[in-house]
Amino acid sequence: YSRLFTEVVPNDRGGMMESALTARDRVGVQDFVLLENYTSEAAFIENLRKRFKENLIYTYISSVLVSVNPYKDLEIYTKNHMERYRGVNFYEVSPHIYATSDNSYRSMRTERRDQCILISGESGAGKTEASKKILQYYAVTCPASDQVQTVKDRLLQSNPVLEAFGNAKTLRNDNSSRFGKYMDIQFDFKGAPVGGHIINYLLEKSRVVHQNHGERNFHIFYQLIEGGEEDLLRRLGLERNPQHYQYLVKGNCPKVSSINDRSDWKQVRKALTVIGFSEDEVEELMNIISSVLHLGNMQYGGDDGGSACITSDTQIKYLSRLLGVSGTVLTEALTHRKIIAKGEELMSPLNIEQASAARDALSKAVYGRTFTWLVNKINGSLAYTDESNKNSSVIGLLDIYGFEVFQYNSFEQFCINYCNEKLQQLFIELTLKSEQEEYEAEGITWEPVQYFNNKIICDLVEEKFKGIISILDEECLRPGDASDITFLEKLEDTVGSHPHFVTHKLADTKTRKLMGREEFRLLHYAGDVNYNVNGEVMCMSENKILTQCFDREELTDKKRPDTVRCVVLSHVSPLPNPTIVVPCAKAEFTKLHVTKILDYSELLHFNCSQVKLCVCVCVFVCALVFRYKSLCPDTWPNWQGKLPEGVSTLVKHLGYKPEEYKMGRSKIFIRFPKTLFATEDALET
Ligand code: ATP
Ligand code: MG
Repeated sequence: YSRLFTEVVPNDRGGMMESALTARDRVGVQDFVLLENYTSEAAFIENLRKRFKENLIYTYISSVLVSVNPYKDLEIYTKNHMERYRGVNFYEVSPHIYATSDNSYRSMRTERRDQCILISGESGAGKTEASKKILQYYAVTCPASDQVQTVKDRLLQSNPVLEAFGNAKTLRNDNSSRFGKYMDIQFDFKGAPVGGHIINYLLEKSRVVHQNHGERNFHIFYQLIEGGEEDLLRRLGLERNPQHYQYLVKGNCPKVSSINDRSDWKQVRKALTVIGFSEDEVEELMNIISSVLHLGNMQYGGDDGGSACITSDTQIKYLSRLLGVSGTVLTEALTHRKIIAKGEELMSPLNIEQASAARDALSKAVYGRTFTWLVNKINGSLAYTDESNKNSSVIGLLDIYGFEVFQYNSFEQFCINYCNEKLQQLFIELTLKSEQEEYEAEGITWEPVQYFNNKIICDLVEEKFKGIISILDEECLRPGDASDITFLEKLEDTVGSHPHFVTHKLADTKTRKLMGREEFRLLHYAGDVNYNVNGEVMCMSENKILTQCFDREELTDKKRPDTVRCVVLSHVSPLPNPTIVVPCAKAEFTKLHVTKILDYSELLHFNCSQVKLCVCVCVFVCALVFRYKSLCPDTWPNWQGKLPEGVSTLVKHLGYKPEEYKMGRSKIFIRFPKTLFATEDALET
């Protein structure tokens, strides 16, 4: 409970001591459960605002850490800060991502249980930065030997590499993660980091061939073009001009003021070496990256019969050299498709539109698989091989892409947002449920708190046979007239009456105006999103092209990470330390802005439910008697009898009314924080 009083607040008032009350007025409370007006959403925002103004970006809701993106460098991540949080009780210091990191680490060490830190929030909220801070904390504060130092370096250097290949500038975030990442950090029995493992989820491959206006392709393309050495670019047949490449011009945004592609290239090159990539491997990797750019520039013409043909040999020549594939095979794969007629395999020519789609599909597949290869390679370099030390424990870090809504939302946004729904489910399980379980364990009766359980939306998406994914699967596999439109119609037939599903046909007049005919709308917990079905059913054709260009055996290799494992639940340990990150655009913390974001994301509502549930301040009875014994003659200087009786005597003397507190087995639950504040103030006087 000392977290009520201990926050170290930058005080610019000439060193004058502020009373606990004045400090609270100025900087708010460091745990939302301490808010006096705890049911009010306005009070929640006001507290967040007060703290943000004082550069206090972290606040707890019980054991959950809420963080607001400051969009500026704060002096709160120094080595001194790390030391301040090391080995210190969670409650004794002000809220910080380091406190969460340290708490997980110590729980792992003392309870010998694997831990998991879940980071969730909208795009741009600061999730990836938070995960990097956690990793840095472990790299600096955990014990190290020479061998461990190598692991630490590799763990840290995996970030710039993965970000180069998996992050991109979007409208919401200049460095937006376009893949989900779950990273295990492995610790030996001495608590030193000895290895790691990364699982990647669902890279946004469509970005390789198309970007919305104001957005970019993955960073690596620009880094290579801007920063790559002259020799290297010559070997790759690349020009030092992003505008020259079709795959880089769609967003009309080659340069970003916050990004220096040239220096980032140097950093990535260095990181690749630290991770253990040989010169040859880097060259091969760049061969593939540049071949994607060449593919994008390939032009098609049509012959008299309307079949597509490749009009210039230049790209094919480069591609064949860079990828090590025969030009004839490549040309055929890009202009024909394989069909099976009467049991025989035949090559059927594609028209220009189909061939362009095949080219883009190939580019996406090449890039996607290269990304997977890269993650595997990093995993190889982080692998912990010492068989004699099987008793290692892990801390897992989950950093997935945040919930997002664009003007045009496709299958990719659908998957991302579904993933966020699942994560929300997990938060509900871990926070609200576990809090209620504590009351049960303490023998406390409580009133169930009302909150929106988004399971109904998860079911709408994932239910077997009846869910949206099942229906899409079915339409993709159905021979005959299956199309995007039949998919939409089937959705209307099957889930049309679901309260979280709407189509143009089913919508009321007002909503209809906001929807296209080829869209369905899902009412997510975080907001409403229209998804366009254009091309959904076509997705399957990608595999047919892949089978022509890739080794069949390799395709069925079970060892490659499986993107379907984006159901993250299986990796979660029973003792998580969830972190919620709240976005705040460009350091502007206007009430309106935050209300909008929070309302929109329903995060506020969820948080308030959580606050309502956690609103009792719970204090171990022994701690209460020890701290306030001087306020009651019967407990001073020491209470001689049994603890529960001691605490009853004390609270009676202090004048706590029966409705203000409840005694649990080992803790006392005090309904309103102000009761405890008054006691604390009495202690000061
Ligand atoms: P996405 O879902 O798009 O990947 P994200 O939640 O991972 O978004 P970040 O990339 O972590 O968002 O943060 C976006 C930007 O906000 C960072 O590039 C950085 O400029 C700024 N930022 C985030 N957290 C902090 C912080 N703690 N201190 C200072 N700046 C920050
Ligand atoms: Mg991110």
